[in-house]
Amino acid sequence: MKPLSFKSLKQMLDTLRTEEECRVYLETLRWNGKPVCPHCGSISEHHYKLTQNGEFKGLYKCRDCKKRFTIRQGIMFEDSNLPLRTWFHAIYLVFISKKGISSCQLARELGVTQKTAWFMLQRIRHNMKDDDIDFDDTTQVDETYIGGKTKRNKGGQGRSTKQKIPVMGLLSKGKVHTRVIPNAGKDTLQGVIYNLIKEGVTVVTDGWKGYRGLGKKYKHKVVNHSKSLFKFYLITS
Ligand SMILES: [Zn+2]
Repeated sequence: MKPLSFKSLKQMLDTLRTEEECRVYLETLRWNGKPVCPHCGSISEHHYKLTQNGEFKGLYKCRDCKKRFTIRQGIMFEDSNLPLRTWFHAIYLVFISKKGISSCQLARELGVTQKTAWFMLQRIRHNMKDDDIDFDDTTQVDETYIGGKTKRNKGGQGRSTKQKIPVMGLLSKGKVHTRVIPNAGKDTLQGVIYNLIKEGVTVVTDGWKGYRGLGKKYKHKVVNHSKSLFKFYLITS
């Protein structure tokens, strides 16, 4: 399964219908075919796949340290019994809600209790918050539109409709900071960058013209990377 960037909540929910589909999606994103043992760090396509009631459901046994693990271990879903699909749904909603989302709203959308929604919100926000990130080391910067089809280079800068919300993500030291931005124009993007990232560090972006000129204050590295903050988030959370 090829990891997808989802253009809308509906597309995500239509694509990831079952726990199994969500698990495979997350595994592909994080491991790319080579499961990583969270106990000893061993990376191998040949970790043992254990069956439960005759079926493989994502439980691995490390071929080196012999300990068991799943994709949930070591990340935010670790000690939760909630389906991954519910988590993905919640994360998506948090991403697209400009003014924030309350636990009541989230509970209604997801069909879970408010207590559960509150717990999920705490955890998602904890993983998104930037208080404990210092952007004084290599930082990867990307932006995307969530909830719409228009690509930035077709829509032009500064255009904003209700359908698409520009979101910017900064990834450093394995943590991601995301924020909703008014547009993906140069002034906006570089304003955020100058504000948050320490001068002189390496900043990695794609070739979008909004990032041109960063070389004056940073070591600017241009690469081609796929666009999805949602993916970003799931990889690093
Ligand atoms: Zn191991």
